[in-house]
Amino acid sequence: MKSGDIKPRVLTILGATGTIGVNTLDVVARHPDRFEVFALTGATQVERMLEQCRTHRPRFAVMSEPAAAAALRARVAAEGLAVEVLEGTAALTEVATAPEVDTLMAAIVGAAGLPATLAAAQAGKRILLANKETLVVSGQLFMDAIAASGAELLPIDSEHNAIFQALPRDFSGDFQQAGVKALWLTASGGPFRTLSAEAIAAATPAQAVAHPNWVMGKKISVDSASLMNKGLEVIEARWLFNARPEQIKVVVHPQSIVHSMVEYADGSVIAQMGTPDMRTPIAYALGFPERIEAGVSALELMGRQLTFEAPDTARFPCLQLAFDALAAGGNAAAVLNAANEVAVARFLDGAVPFPAIAASIAHTLDALAGGAADTLDDLLEADRQARSVADAYLGALRP
Ligand code: NDP
Ligand code: MG
Repeated sequence: MKSGDIKPRVLTILGATGTIGVNTLDVVARHPDRFEVFALTGATQVERMLEQCRTHRPRFAVMSEPAAAAALRARVAAEGLAVEVLEGTAALTEVATAPEVDTLMAAIVGAAGLPATLAAAQAGKRILLANKETLVVSGQLFMDAIAASGAELLPIDSEHNAIFQALPRDFSGDFQQAGVKALWLTASGGPFRTLSAEAIAAATPAQAVAHPNWVMGKKISVDSASLMNKGLEVIEARWLFNARPEQIKVVVHPQSIVHSMVEYADGSVIAQMGTPDMRTPIAYALGFPERIEAGVSALELMGRQLTFEAPDTARFPCLQLAFDALAAGGNAAAVLNAANEVAVARFLDGAVPFPAIAASIAHTLDALAGGAADTLDDLLEADRQARSVADAYLGALRP
């Protein structure tokens, strides 16, 4: 124990070198009595990890890329830091499930985060879930693991964190009993909200990652531009809150002040609002059930206009594809996610135009949806096959 009566929470942060990881460490540093950093993980960013090791003194630093781990190990040794450097994907699971750890921030991007996050769920940790792809790929399996181990799951995604805050504290997943009619996910609409279909078709990676309201990693920024991010969040909400697809609504709210809403049977709609800054949901989950300082600037509402509009699935077909995958069930969401990851990477490389993202997901879903999704192996196989089908489809598009 440190000062006072607070027993510090012992944290592993998966994806510490990313946008969510950096914001998490910013909040953690404001509360040295509350948190101890056990392990930090990254993939490629050696300099940033070195800086984080200097500042936060974790026991372990994991780089999933062995070459990056070797480089970090040399730097850590040269500076005499007391940090053990591990490498590879198995080490991600080790530091996520170590007995010393009680809280895991899961902030790796993509399905790459699934094995370690699922293992932490099985190990009964408190999981702060930013890595929405884990829930999209393995929703049923993941929620079953949480229930079986008694793990605690707190959403970091701003919309789901808002809904979590707007639901009754004792919400059990029973909409009827809680008097909940619908969950309203707000969407900023992304950087292409007001562009014509022609302009969207010609959009460059630089335009796609220039989000109007949030600073985020490249992959989720492209997902925001295509509205696939909202599609993934619909699937995420289905699992987190035991919602039926028709109980999940999407509304475009370009100012990103209302982070999401819960509609109740009596006509009440409870919204959570705030300055768009991920440190708010991160601090909420880190401190839960207490509220802790997050360093976020106060919401200035005077003179602000808040507007709401329907999403346009003609210009943004990815949102509909996600609803379709949810309705199809089985392996469809895993296929959708993998096809999207491949297409986004190709788009960011400049190899394919923006509309190829939706087209390749539709093609891959047609080819593969309908398979089993009962075990982790089923899901990893669906992920692997979808990557290969999407790759072939996108490869054939090249000039
Ligand atoms: P970033 O791209 O900024 O960070 C990703 C992190 O994951 C980095 O630490 C990166 O390491 C690591 N990483 C990348 N690939 C692998 C891999 N194959 N194996 C292990 N580690 C890997 O992403 P964000 O922080 O923006 O997003 C993280 C997650 O949080 C995503 O699932 C996203 O959807 C979700 N999220 C993000 C929000 C945001 O505001 N940014 C909001 C809501 C959800 P390195 O950089 O060292 O290569
Ligand atoms: Mg979100």
